[in-house]
Amino acid sequence: MLINIHTHQTDKQANEQIIYNLIIPASEEELEVFPSDETPNTWLSTGIHPWYINESNHKSQIEKLRQLANYKDIKLIGECGLDRLKGCPLPLQEEIFIKQIRVAEDVKKPLIIHCVKCFNELVSIKKIVRPKVPMIIHGFNNNFHIAQAVLERGFYLSLGSAILNDNSNAAHLLPNIPIEKLFLETDDKDVSIQEIYEKASFILKMPLDKLEDAIFANYSEICQ
Ligand SMILES: [Zn+2]
Repeated sequence: MLINIHTHQTDKQANEQIIYNLIIPASEEELEVFPSDETPNTWLSTGIHPWYINESNHKSQIEKLRQLANYKDIKLIGECGLDRLKGCPLPLQEEIFIKQIRVAEDVKKPLIIHCVKCFNELVSIKKIVRPKVPMIIHGFNNNFHIAQAVLERGFYLSLGSAILNDNSNAAHLLPNIPIEKLFLETDDKDVSIQEIYEKASFILKMPLDKLEDAIFANYSEICQ
């Protein structure tokens, strides 16, 4: 089975298991009817994306997350995190991120993390909050130095369509990521998870079925 740890798309291949991401909405009208009846019947992650923090009503967003976090189909909390280039001021992003870490701790579910140009902050938050739940940085496409810093601190890395480009950081980095810390994803990109697994298998010189099993084992190890 091909675990797709983070996607915003519902169409999938027969041998694929998606963890579909539901973004907790910012607007109060949408929040009231969230999640909608059309929520796909599959494994899910949900959280407050740093782009969609409601600056005047984030309490209700956190409350909503708390209600949903226990649901059996919610496998991961997030995507949540920090973004230096977009969204509300960083101190508020940090506050909301820490609150979501605490929710994840309460329900003992791993976090799926969005991080753009905030790796120092991410590492210090982990140091201060010291969550026991695993933390997966999704869509990782940063340099070796940053990768090393976060791997040393126990983060998992999920790589996506960037590995299809031979010149990307992600493609260069892949052979240096311990296999037990690796996930793969499609995110919002128009690519198949099969394509990403095949490329990763090629870069790693590892048979596809071995790679599939290794990532499935990673998933089983950290998710209920
Ligand atoms: Zn995403």
